[in-house]
Amino acid sequence: MKTQTIDIRISEVGPRDGLQSIDTIMPTADKCAWIETQFDAGTREIEVGSFVPPRLLPQLADTAEVVAFSRKLKGLVIAVLVPNLKGLQNAVDAGAHKVSIPFSMSESHSLKNVRKTHAQMLEEIGRCVSYLGGVPRERRPTLEVGLSTAFGCTIEGPVPEDRVIRMAEKVIELGVDEVGLSDTTGYGNPAQLKRLTQEIWNHCGRERMTGVHLHNTRGQGLANALMAVELGITTLDASLGGIGGCPYAPGASGNIVTEDLVWMLEAMGLRTGIDVEQLLEVRRQVQASVPNETMYGFLADAGLPKGFASHQGGRIQQNG
Ligand code: ZN
Repeated sequence: MKTQTIDIRISEVGPRDGLQSIDTIMPTADKCAWIETQFDAGTREIEVGSFVPPRLLPQLADTAEVVAFSRKLKGLVIAVLVPNLKGLQNAVDAGAHKVSIPFSMSESHSLKNVRKTHAQMLEEIGRCVSYLGGVPRERRPTLEVGLSTAFGCTIEGPVPEDRVIRMAEKVIELGVDEVGLSDTTGYGNPAQLKRLTQEIWNHCGRERMTGVHLHNTRGQGLANALMAVELGITTLDASLGGIGGCPYAPGASGNIVTEDLVWMLEAMGLRTGIDVEQLLEVRRQVQASVPNETMYGFLADAGLPKGFASHQGGRIQQNG
């Protein structure tokens, strides 16, 4: 097996964060085709869906099937989002590799989103950790808690940074593998991201937070991503064509755009393992599947700069 060195891992969250916030329900076959072609383009982590009740998110009702399909793609880390223990059990049964539980740092947002106070969320996370302790190691996914609305909330406004740090410490003490900073509402700025990251590292250890989840609601997505990379964050969530957002955070419109992010990093000399031209093809394919949905981003409109050559040739140099 040939291993390629990667500097920054892009975790594609479009099939989850993107599809959950548009009205169109993408057919299962189209989701699988998206995941496969984006894997072919070099993406090695994809959040393929969410285990929530289908009546809440009919767009993601087929997540178990999508996970089953994705398991055929050797070397792909299959991530899913779950709101609670029940969702986690479904994720383990389906065979996900990485599970993320969103934990809203705004208690009002948490009550509205999952009807749980902070104390109740901490109890639920504790139950999730205990449950995973009984899952055989080879089937046990890594567990991440996403500190959502960490940069501010559409209901509460500013979220105190010391609260975010305290909650990060608490969930790490409970035994989760990692926390991740999530700018659910697109309120974040680079200075804030730097403070939060450094404080979480100081209190929890650097290895306990390696990724951030950014939105581009106010145009700060790439600025925040650049700050994260300069600090030493190694995993960035992004959504192809920027589709996505949070259905519970009014006004939020889209993650950072995968193809723009990949291009920025590759142009800076950082290796993502992803072939940006192939990625633009995937985008065309996804747009054809949801022709009435808006896709964002500059690279697709402007094209690659003349003479641009990315660092690698996609699949051939990848793992597996
Ligand atoms: Zn999001």
